[in-house]
Amino acid sequence: MSYRTPMHQRLANALSYNEFRIFYQPVIDLPTGNIVGVEALCRWPQRDSTFAAPETFITQAETSGFIVQLGDWVLKNALEQVRKWQKAFSRDINLAVNLSARQFLHYNLMKSIEEAIAKANFSPKLLEFEITESVAMHNAEDSIGIMRQVKSRGMSLALDDFGTGYSSLAYLKRFPIDKLKIDKTFVRDIPDDANDLAIVNAIIAMAHALGLAVQAEGVETVAQAEFLRECGCEYAQGYLFGRPLPADEFELMLASQTPAILAPN
Ligand code: C2E
Ligand code: MG
Ligand code: MG
Repeated sequence: MSYRTPMHQRLANALSYNEFRIFYQPVIDLPTGNIVGVEALCRWPQRDSTFAAPETFITQAETSGFIVQLGDWVLKNALEQVRKWQKAFSRDINLAVNLSARQFLHYNLMKSIEEAIAKANFSPKLLEFEITESVAMHNAEDSIGIMRQVKSRGMSLALDDFGTGYSSLAYLKRFPIDKLKIDKTFVRDIPDDANDLAIVNAIIAMAHALGLAVQAEGVETVAQAEFLRECGCEYAQGYLFGRPLPADEFELMLASQTPAILAPN
C-alpha cells in the first residue's frame, strides 16, 4: 500500500509495529460514585518515553484518512479488553469509543463495528460511541441516518465536547442520541465562575427535558463533582476519579472498585 504523506506512513508503521496503546478512563455514576464504564483513549508512545498528544496525532490521522484503520484497531482491542473485564468481574462495564468524522462517515463503519462486536462477543447495549457536534453537523442528514443505524443495533450515542461546537438546538432534538457530554472548559471554573455555573445548569436541564443523560468531562475537584451532582448530572469523568490508565492499572482500580481520588495535574 502506498501512502500520501510521511505522517500517514509513520502512523501506518506505528500500527504495524503495534506501537499504539489504549488507556482507559473511568466513567462514574455520580449519585453512587461507582465506576460504570470506561472511555477508551488512544495513546502513541514515543522513543523518548513521552506520548504524542492525541489531539495532534488523531488530527493527523484524520487528515490523512488513516484514522479509519486506527479507529478499527482501537475499537477491536478495547472491545476485547473490556469484555475480559466484564467476565472477570462478572458485571456490566460500559465502553465508550470516540469516532472522528472520517470514521463516522466511512461506508464500511457498520460492517466493521458489527464484526468487532461479534468477534469480542460484546453486548451492543454496553457500547457507546462518542461523536462531537462538528462531526454530527458535518453533513447532518447523512449523520442522522448513520446514528439511526447505530441505535437500531442496540448501541448508544453520546455528543462529546458539548457546548464547544455548533450546539444547534434544531439538530439536537433530531439527533437520536442518548447522552450529552459537557465539555471540560465549562466544568473547569466551577464553582467560581457564575457564567459557567449557569451554563452547566442550563445544559443539564435542557438535556433532561430532551430525555438525554448528562456526563461531565474534566471533573478535577470535589466541589465540581458536588455541584454537578446537585444539578442532577448522572455521570462524570475526570482526574478526581481517575486519569486515563493503561489496562493493567485500570484493572487494579476496577478490582478495588474505588476510583483513585487524584490531585489534578
Ligand atoms: P475526548 O474524547 O473529549 O476525551 C477526553 C479528554 O479529556 C482526554 O484527552 C482525557 O485525557 C482528557 N481528560 C480526562 N479527564 C480530564 C480532567 O480531569 N482534566 C483535563 N484537563 N483533561 C481530562 P486525550 O486523551 O488527550 O484525548 C484528546 C482527544 O483525542 C479526545 O477528546 C478525542 O477527541 C481524541 N481521541 C482520543 N482517542 C481517540 C480515538 O481512539 N479515536 C478518536 N477518533 N479520537 C480519539
Ligand atoms: Mg470522548
Ligand atoms: Mg470530550
